Amino acid sequence: MIDAPLRTGQSLPGPDTLLDRRGEIVAGAVRQGFIDDLHPLCGVVDLDTLDELMRSLTEAYPPSMPALHTIAAKAITLRPVLARFAQAGFGCEVASPGELELALAAGFSAERIVFDSPAKTTTEIERALALGVSFNIDNFEELARVDQAIARVGRHRAVIGMRLNPQTGAGAIGAMSTATATSKFGIGLADHRDDIIDAFAVRPWLTQLHVHSGSQGLSLEHAAEGVRLIDELARQITARVGHQQVRRIDIGGGLPVNFGSDDITPSFADHRAVLEGVAPELFDGTYGLVTEFGRALTAKAGTIVARVEYTKVTGGRPIAITHAGVQVATRTIFGSAEWPLRIEVYDGQGRRRVEQPQVQDVAGPACFTGDMLAVGRDLPFVRAGDLVAVPDTGGYYFSTHFSYNALPRPAVYTVGTDSEGDRRWSLARRAQTTEEIVAEAGEPSLVPLPLFPSA
Ligand SMILES: *Cc1c(COP(=O)(O)O)cnc(C)c1O
Repeated sequence: MIDAPLRTGQSLPGPDTLLDRRGEIVAGAVRQGFIDDLHPLCGVVDLDTLDELMRSLTEAYPPSMPALHTIAAKAITLRPVLARFAQAGFGCEVASPGELELALAAGFSAERIVFDSPAKTTTEIERALALGVSFNIDNFEELARVDQAIARVGRHRAVIGMRLNPQTGAGAIGAMSTATATSKFGIGLADHRDDIIDAFAVRPWLTQLHVHSGSQGLSLEHAAEGVRLIDELARQITARVGHQQVRRIDIGGGLPVNFGSDDITPSFADHRAVLEGVAPELFDGTYGLVTEFGRALTAKAGTIVARVEYTKVTGGRPIAITHAGVQVATRTIFGSAEWPLRIEVYDGQGRRRVEQPQVQDVAGPACFTGDMLAVGRDLPFVRAGDLVAVPDTGGYYFSTHFSYNALPRPAVYTVGTDSEGDRRWSLARRAQTTEEIVAEAGEPSLVPLPLFPSA
């Protein structure tokens, strides 16, 4: 039988489709009344794009392969959106007690959750064991703690792995590079290969290897080299213990996203092809596979829509003051060179402006000079009352609110095609209210605590 050809990116929407959907999203946000004085900013997740991204990942792997694809929760901590991943058969990668409970609440079963955190407390380890949630041990001290926890808990169903740092070096963005010689994540493979193999040899319950050679800024080949080294380690463990103890290889996430245009590249199929080139055994059914993508599964599905409140010209440069700034685009504001975002201009009715571009600045609402969404950008002339749309913000933007200036978390809506073919809108997360902001700012007055007797 001839293998079906890989359906490379067949499910992925093309650039024209993404542009059309965004136009419809901005016009829809106006029509639905999402933008007003109380809510001059909102987020929108396009469920069609999200579903297509999910499908492009599952289709990149042969149906015969036991793969657990998880969504990295930190990219999109919106409960009903995570629930959509759960309903599509995805698992969830979590890294904190909050994300773990969110994953359970969103409907992921325990055996489809993977818990990665470099700082798991004893309570968190015991909770994972009790639930049967898979987790990856980050360091030798945690390994000793897990030994004790297993001795206390006894029988458990959790798939337990070890997170390795392949020490393959940095990508283009230092803060996003998890595989440097001195990265804080995982156990250094080059430093500790023999200790790692010894650790597996005396612990039959260690059955998973994990590597996350993230992330944005890393080439596919560079990330694949990390996976190849883990695959090689798995073979060395098999040789040492005399049977195949490692059942599952967790290749992490970290597929970069193209923020420069509406082209979805690289695709999951591109990524899988590079991996298969360097580590074919990963795909021959020897191991179960776990993936943990975040950004690549979500970024292209999200749009921020914000109103332009005022415009002015300062020092000869036109500046548009909008409501989208550091509170929703924290990484872009603090790292504009590494995390640039495109900006599109629409009029107050949500029609795309198409005039000759001219150089302008686009500012956020926060009270610090650096709160600039774009500086010196060629854009159609922006007017007060216009709307700016910020594409590619489905991953890490809505989930990573920064409460500077007590600016509220914006509402996030979804739009997607229903069974009748109509594009239907829903609310995913309502906006944070000013009452909530006041309530979260602390107790009404200082609460006296009991006095400790002096020694
Ligand atoms: C953040 C993270 C991911 C997801 O990374 P992306 O770059 O969004 O794909 C996966 N695994 C681990 C362990 C992570 O910390």
